[in-house]
Amino acid sequence: MNIKRNVLLNPGPSTTTDTVKMAQIVPDICPREKEFASLMKGFREDLVGIVHGDITKYTSVLFCGSGTINIDICINSLLPAGKKVLIIDNGAYSTRAAQVCGYYGLSYIDLKMPIDSLPDLTTVEKTLKDNPDVYIVYTTHHETGTGLLNPIREIGAIAHKYGAIFVVDTTSSLAMIPINVEVDNIDFCMASAQKGIMAMTGLSFIIGRIDEIEKSATYPRRSYYCNLYRQYEYFEKTGEMNFTPPVQTIYAAIQGLKEYYQEGEIAKYARHKRVFEAIHTGLDKLGFKDFLKRDLQSGLVVAALYPDDENWDFTKVHDYCYKRGFTIYPGKVENKGMFRLCSLGAIDTKDIENFFIVFEEALRINNIKIPVVYKED
Ligand SMILES: *Cc1c(COP(=O)(O)O)cnc(C)c1O
Repeated sequence: MNIKRNVLLNPGPSTTTDTVKMAQIVPDICPREKEFASLMKGFREDLVGIVHGDITKYTSVLFCGSGTINIDICINSLLPAGKKVLIIDNGAYSTRAAQVCGYYGLSYIDLKMPIDSLPDLTTVEKTLKDNPDVYIVYTTHHETGTGLLNPIREIGAIAHKYGAIFVVDTTSSLAMIPINVEVDNIDFCMASAQKGIMAMTGLSFIIGRIDEIEKSATYPRRSYYCNLYRQYEYFEKTGEMNFTPPVQTIYAAIQGLKEYYQEGEIAKYARHKRVFEAIHTGLDKLGFKDFLKRDLQSGLVVAALYPDDENWDFTKVHDYCYKRGFTIYPGKVENKGMFRLCSLGAIDTKDIENFFIVFEEALRINNIKIPVVYKED
């Protein structure tokens, strides 16, 4: 089968290999069969391996849903009665966690920090000192909206110093940037199959400490479908998900994970980095400016500012590229025009070189000045 290859420069779902796409074409199977349960068992253990967790201490729990389901589940399931969540919030994804707290009526502190710099850890520590009832410290590793990478190891160390557990949204970094749950002081992290493991949408997973999940059995059950202990317990008892799993998506994710281990953690990280550098090279040549300082960037997302050119029209540029197999993505910061180019997925520098040929054509055809101009220039 010949499937058209698109280069997705949006922040996930990302470009997949044909072998991952084809892994979904399998004989029909009822997911309650032992054969399927044993597939999931191996897959769950291999997921823990991505973050170098000891499988006697850490487990992974699968859910059917997009990545936000993990945020919802961790927050609503891991908070004992009468305790509080502290969110280190310097981006849209951490803000989402604060919204989840609001929806469940939980007690929380949304520690808002500037989105274009690293969080002030002195303030984090002071907040924990002043609020001994905080049980969950939460943040986002890679804020996909801006491309900022947060210092999780340091935040986790502070959380632990004050007896809190550390929950991190690693959706857009796991299996791309090396993570080690023990060294990085992580109690719970999370991701979705369509990001770092370069598979399909619809499957998400939480990786975390078995003892904390078991403790949570006695915590208030705030959701019927989205409860971590409930899903974990069912997996342990039966090897299955409580409710129908996304069967074909799981086959693709297993193939994606196999390819992850074949490529290797370090080689894959290096590939994302060189794609990122190629994106910068292309943007620099055209005169684009970054939203974030270079040394704060994750190596996975570049947020470039819209030029001050009356002919600039993101939609027109997007549509021109899209027709030619390249997807670019708008920004996620209010009142600030920017677009994003990401180095996720099964792509390499050659794809970026080809993209910039098309992108430059798109600028020329729309009479956008090259190099692009900014008002303060
Ligand atoms: C993609 C992403 C999510 C999940 O978003 P969904 O649209 O629900 O898949 C969560 N957190 C971060 C940091 C992400 O990049």
